Amino acid sequence: MSIDQRQAAATLERLLAGKNAAELGARLAAKDGAPVLRLAGGSGVDPETIERRWASVGASAECREALLDAQTAAQAERYKGSIESFLGTVKVPVGIAGPLRVNGTHAQGDYLIPLATTEAALVASYSRGAKLITEAGGCAAVLVNEGVTRAPAFTFATLHEAGQFIAWTLANLDALREVGEATTRHGKLKDLRVSLEGNHVYLIFEYTTGDAAGQNMVTIATQAICDHIIASCPVQPEAWYVEGNHSGDKKASAQSFLSVRGRSVTAEVLIPGAMVEQRLHTTARAMADYWRVSAVGGVLSGTIGVQGHYANGLAALYLACGQDVACVAESAVGVTRFELRGDDLYAAVTLPNLIVGTVGGGTGLPSQRACLEILGLAGAGKANAFAEVVAAISLAGELSIVGALVANEFARAHARLARGAR
Ligand code: NAP
Repeated sequence: MSIDQRQAAATLERLLAGKNAAELGARLAAKDGAPVLRLAGGSGVDPETIERRWASVGASAECREALLDAQTAAQAERYKGSIESFLGTVKVPVGIAGPLRVNGTHAQGDYLIPLATTEAALVASYSRGAKLITEAGGCAAVLVNEGVTRAPAFTFATLHEAGQFIAWTLANLDALREVGEATTRHGKLKDLRVSLEGNHVYLIFEYTTGDAAGQNMVTIATQAICDHIIASCPVQPEAWYVEGNHSGDKKASAQSFLSVRGRSVTAEVLIPGAMVEQRLHTTARAMADYWRVSAVGGVLSGTIGVQGHYANGLAALYLACGQDVACVAESAVGVTRFELRGDDLYAAVTLPNLIVGTVGGGTGLPSQRACLEILGLAGAGKANAFAEVVAAISLAGELSIVGALVANEFARAHARLARGAR
């Protein structure tokens, strides 16, 4: 964040070029007056409301057609509950990668993976890794843990009061569980962890959420629990908040490896050396050597975990399949490990924070549902398999990118696929 004194002087010179300090101050000052632009907002998706909204935006007919094509307009009702001030849809290109063979505890078989992205070379790269894994007999994948947290915070006058509050909460946990679980058929309170900092208490409620990603589910259940605490507890907080920013929601954090956020999956594959040479144009030894260098590079640059580019595949898959793309922030934390086994390459990925679901959220939207159906993982009973497939495609991406870097093909592939260069 900090810059050195030379850069600071250069920045000031650039900012003041052609202006004096007073002009710059006026530019940055708060401005009075009604907004120049006015939006017709709301959550309505009926044709009249959408019409009013477009009129308030005042964009060209071409802009309108690009966002509100005939099919989107006809399906507007399906977006209710997913968006406010609905204008239309953004079309993100979707490609298909695979086949990807997953020998998981939940996912079994060959999968075609829809990926939505505007990054050329991404689908080609994941597809290459997926085919390699499949040719090697598939990757093993194991879902090892599950849980979504909501962490309300309570403030007290003293540490003593905070302690009394914790004692009451622990003594009443069964009643709190009953209150929370009454708000949902699928959400189950799995655990409660407590964090005490001075006179502040964070109650970290962890739930299983069925086949839903579960952020709304745990929020609603925790709100009910908090309301019950406030109505019943003899030790009242000075203030409380349904989330005290201790759950790791939508951010990479130090607790990423200490617990679970969503679904935790580990996956591995053994690739014969000859296959590495044929498909990745390098050797298993060179791949393992690069992994060591990249692991140290990750440590030196201060990353949480060590991995190449989980965010690429996760963002593309989350976007295609109606997941909350912002959860890539916590999901893209994990560990990739490559090892030389004889002449062969052992590769493993571990992702402890996959916030994914196959029901709820955006999974029922028209094109997102279609992508889940292509995967064969739409609807109830599929979320654990989906999580294992997410880990498997992450493994495919790691193999392919490391192969490209080691074989010195990385820049060439991007230049060719993004710029049409030979
Ligand atoms: P949701 O669509 O709000 O809830 C899932 C719904 O599916 C519930 O009504 C649940 O009923 C029902 N359901 C039916 N069959 C189910 C099954 N087999 N397993 C689980 N649920 C089943 O989705 P969510 O997953 O709770 O929340 C995800 C959404 O929350 C995302 O769109 C995300 O963007 C958003 N989000 C919200 C917050 C927040 O704090 N509010 C924060 C971040 C993200 P029951 O509850 O009766 O089981």
